[in-house]
Amino acid sequence: MARGPVVLDAGFGTRLIALGLDLANDDPAFWNLSRPDAVLSLHGRDRAAGAAAVVTNTFGANLAWLTRWGRQDDVESINRRAVALAREAVGEHGLVFGSIGPTATSVAGAARAQAAILAASGVDALLFETHRLDQAEASLRAVRDLVTLPVVASLVAWPEPVADSARRLSDLGAAVLGVNCVLGMVPALAAIETLARGTNLPLFVKPAAGRPGETLDSPADFARAVPRLLDFGVRLLGGCCGTTDAHVAALYAACYD
Ligand SMILES: [Zn+2]
Repeated sequence: MARGPVVLDAGFGTRLIALGLDLANDDPAFWNLSRPDAVLSLHGRDRAAGAAAVVTNTFGANLAWLTRWGRQDDVESINRRAVALAREAVGEHGLVFGSIGPTATSVAGAARAQAAILAASGVDALLFETHRLDQAEASLRAVRDLVTLPVVASLVAWPEPVADSARRLSDLGAAVLGVNCVLGMVPALAAIETLARGTNLPLFVKPAAGRPGETLDSPADFARAVPRLLDFGVRLLGGCCGTTDAHVAALYAACYD
């Protein structure tokens, strides 16, 4: 981040759906084992488009979620394989962020257990994504004494007053704060502008391409927002649901060309 903005990857689940993933009978996380070729290919496309960092395909790969599928015994193998695939795609000079989605509070320790596996598998940072504030607080608390890796805390929405919310997550050890899966770059930019007023930490943004079924933000729409995002302190930027490696390429070009 000291050398310049870090371009991250595009949304993963929506691209797996485009490749045939059936959410009624399957989960993106299973593809690390059943379709590693597809996972590796998507990471590779993002890397080729300019992503310096990719996020592991492990959003729901926690004990709470996998138990619903009867796959509770596969938490470790899925997370290990996901990190290996991401690392293979980016190489030793690329960065791998370990994705942890919100975990059901009914299963104590799910975030902690997943974080431990991701850390042991060699991720460079942990990413708590698509969390609410209370979920992020619980997740940060769960890993606080466990990992020394940098942790990014990314919320879908920041409760007011933002400065208080930001301070709470910062006090719990978050090194970077951000927003992801906000439905479109325009609302994401507004959320980042608000967040920037509440914290001095480096910021992270990964907007969705828009509301499903409506006209989605183009790569050019994403690129156009980059100068303002950087002005607000964004140092990590990529795309969430509905984005592709074309958005990654546009972000990269807006940062570095
Ligand atoms: Zn998303």
